[in-house]
Amino acid sequence: MSALAARILLVEDEPSQRAVLSYNLMREGYQVIEASDGEEAILLTEEEDFDLVLLDWMLPALSGIEICRRLKRQKRTKDIPVIMLSARAEDVDKVRGLDTGADDYLAKPYSLPELLARIRSHLRRFRAAAAGEAVTVDDISLDPLSHRVQRAGTDIALGPTEFRLLATLMERPGRVWTRDQLLDRVWQTSPDTETRTVDVHIGRLRKALSLPDLADPIRTVRGTGYSIG
Ligand code: CA
Repeated sequence: MSALAARILLVEDEPSQRAVLSYNLMREGYQVIEASDGEEAILLTEEEDFDLVLLDWMLPALSGIEICRRLKRQKRTKDIPVIMLSARAEDVDKVRGLDTGADDYLAKPYSLPELLARIRSHLRRFRAAAAGEAVTVDDISLDPLSHRVQRAGTDIALGPTEFRLLATLMERPGRVWTRDQLLDRVWQTSPDTETRTVDVHIGRLRKALSLPDLADPIRTVRGTGYSIG
């Protein structure tokens, strides 16, 4: 870890689970702030800055899903990666199907090395994007400072909207963005703007990224939205 330890908010109501996780995260060099319920978690995020939130799904009063939705609705907190932890594998599928905006899900009991690997990966991406560093997903690279996009070494020319659209999708590989979320992020307009706009620009982005023998990098999730990676 760098000298500047990442700050992780750990939201878990079971004291023993919280203690074990907290211990293991601190051993990795992270700064851990604990919350035992949703209200406390929300208050903490209003007052302090975090680099990542580890969120238990089953919490008294305010559920993990509700906390996640609230975090993703606030401008201040919406870009913080959220990893949700749920009790059973079946629940992971259920939670994934809900539009919570969580960036990742793990079922308990999870393997600690796996959780740590995912934390590292989300932190890396979060910090890179915040620092304006170039990002790479599969064979596509994007440099926010020079506005340069390459696919498999070939320069890709994009209009400003397609560039922002691609940058947003690449921020969280694998995450499914709804049309409303993309309108909010890319166009910064209210959700009642015509969602068809998103489809039109996704079409242009796909066309610009299409190269002979290479598959379409953008995945359409029926009834939901789009993702990359
Ligand atoms: Ca719990």
